[in-house]
Amino acid sequence: MDFVFAAPPPVALPVAGSGALFPVRRVYCVGRNYAAHAREMGSDPTREPPFFFCKPADAVLPVAPGTTLELPYPGMTANLHHEVELVAAIGKAGRDIDAGDAAAHVFGYAVGLDMTRRDLQADMRQAGRPWEIGKAYDASAPIGPIHAAGGLAQALARAPIALTVNGQTRQSSSLDQLIWSVPETIAHLSRYFELRPGDLIFTGTPEGVGAVVPGDLMVGSIAGLGSLSVRVIERT
Ligand code: MN
Repeated sequence: MDFVFAAPPPVALPVAGSGALFPVRRVYCVGRNYAAHAREMGSDPTREPPFFFCKPADAVLPVAPGTTLELPYPGMTANLHHEVELVAAIGKAGRDIDAGDAAAHVFGYAVGLDMTRRDLQADMRQAGRPWEIGKAYDASAPIGPIHAAGGLAQALARAPIALTVNGQTRQSSSLDQLIWSVPETIAHLSRYFELRPGDLIFTGTPEGVGAVVPGDLMVGSIAGLGSLSVRVIERT
């Protein structure tokens, strides 16, 4: 292929226990999917249909097991927040997927951080403007290795999800607190977008979101999926 300049390399996540890589196509995110987080963001938790936003694929930063990613503090914010989330990785295409069939479309699961410039998101929300500058900025999506689904869905149904900052617990909940389960989320999302292999879905964060500053070490974890270690560093 004769590109006018070098095409960007594909974004890919390692697959745990395998030398293979999961190529990332799109990144979808669910907003306010835990009741206690909806309340801390000033909303009433409801069973209104879930809402979605996106991040660009190249916002994904793979974090290899046993390593700590250095994440430069982004520009244009004074309130960078952590949101630890279960990430579902799609392995089979589909649209208008029934929740009962959704598991067949999941390749695997990972721990991810939906890093958020909260001040910008709040400004945009108040002004009725899109969230991109708060949510979809460069390097806003560190994600750990993908664990192939296998029998994991059952084990994850009630799995603890947590995030510590410098060893102090900030977020601690359980995946059974999701307002919309992963299959329900896939069912809703696939009505709006045709899902394709390589798509990632951030499924929402529990309560306890908060600010980090350079020097802080975040460790996100979900039982069964291991942990994800990210240190915020000064932007150079
Ligand atoms: Mn989020």
